[in-house]
Amino acid sequence: MNKSQETKVNLLGYSRAELISWLARQNIPKFRSKQLIKWIHQKGVLDFLSMTDLPYSMREELNEIAIIKPPLISEEINHDSQINAPQKYLISTSQNNKVEMVLIPQESSKSSDNDIDEQKSSTRQASIRQTLCISTQAGCAVGCPFCATGKQGFNSNLTSDEIIGQLWLGVYSIDSHKIKHHSGIDKNNISNVVFMGMGEPLLNFEPVMSACDLFLDDEAYGLSRRKVTISTSGVVPMIDRMCGRTEVALAVSLHSSDDELRNELVPINKKYPISDLLSVCKKYLKSLSQKDRQITFEYTMLDGINDSISQAKDLARILANIPCKINLIPYNPSPFADYKRSSDKKIYDFSSVLINKGYIVTTRKTRGSKIKAACGQLSGEIISKSKQKSNVYKI
Ligand code: SAH
Ligand code: SF4
Repeated sequence: MNKSQETKVNLLGYSRAELISWLARQNIPKFRSKQLIKWIHQKGVLDFLSMTDLPYSMREELNEIAIIKPPLISEEINHDSQINAPQKYLISTSQNNKVEMVLIPQESSKSSDNDIDEQKSSTRQASIRQTLCISTQAGCAVGCPFCATGKQGFNSNLTSDEIIGQLWLGVYSIDSHKIKHHSGIDKNNISNVVFMGMGEPLLNFEPVMSACDLFLDDEAYGLSRRKVTISTSGVVPMIDRMCGRTEVALAVSLHSSDDELRNELVPINKKYPISDLLSVCKKYLKSLSQKDRQITFEYTMLDGINDSISQAKDLARILANIPCKINLIPYNPSPFADYKRSSDKKIYDFSSVLINKGYIVTTRKTRGSKIKAACGQLSGEIISKSKQKSNVYKI
């Protein structure tokens, strides 16, 4: 009997390993996983009956017990008419929350590990590569006082199909700067995925790992491990669990080199102080198969709070023996917080100290602020649309 849509399993959220074990339970051979993954993630096909290299009886069986269902885009927000302006999308979740996803076109034809940090723009017209910034939770329990998502408190975790579904939507469902793909299908040229939207990715660990597996899987999206970045506030035991489990790029939101100030700016620091965080970062780098990898340390520049020359020197000192680069993020003002953005001069002076000590420093362009899609502005205006809960997630 055909199951109702709600009780059917959604295969969009399955990594290859998960799909193989689910297929085994249905007595379907392992090799079919490859075909299914290709149909869903390389061809964007959502209908089992159209998967012409599967036996017809199998297509019918799958159609009865499973679905392939991406989340819904409830709104596209693009107030900026400029070419190559970031585009923000509100995604509806099964828990009746709204989360945000941002597509950020890159003009540069040069490749950097993490295109969101790219400062230079090129006049050469290459195909427009894009970075997709995705969410992992509605709200966030960590509660950094300068972050609009943190002000919301924690609402719910996204399921793996809602996380993977954001890349699926970015590739197949959004009409923006499309290019012809080798399969003949028009695809948005998404070269990087960053977990820098709403939520703390490592507090929704397993679904985020399934998503990373699939993003890197050559039969699915085939992204390079340097081009998928998890940004974390520093959930030390979960960074530890990443060792040997994944090889994606790691960005750590440091924001201060002093425990007292970081306890305030990134409250999870009270549980996992800077020394523990830096140790586990080193452990993660050691666990990677390529030894030339680096951690990116993110540092939001808050006027008069963490932007002095002596704080830059302290930062240089504590990072001295970690292969890393530093990404300075000019603070994006939020109506929910009293912080101010550091002046351009202060950011320049701060970065000069670090550069003189030999660090690679990028300063993030404040793109997307017109549509409140810049980092830390995600979600601000939808708080009232989501049911607000307090920070119920234990951290
Ligand atoms: N929760 C994860 C990822 C999402 S936020 C994390 O905290 O790492 C991505 C980055 O933007 C983090 O470094 C975060 O601290 C920073 N951020 C948050 N709000 C900001 C704001 N208003 N202005 C500038 N950066 C902000
Ligand atoms: Fe959560 Fe990251 Fe915002 Fe902190 S900065 S509240 S960890 S989303």
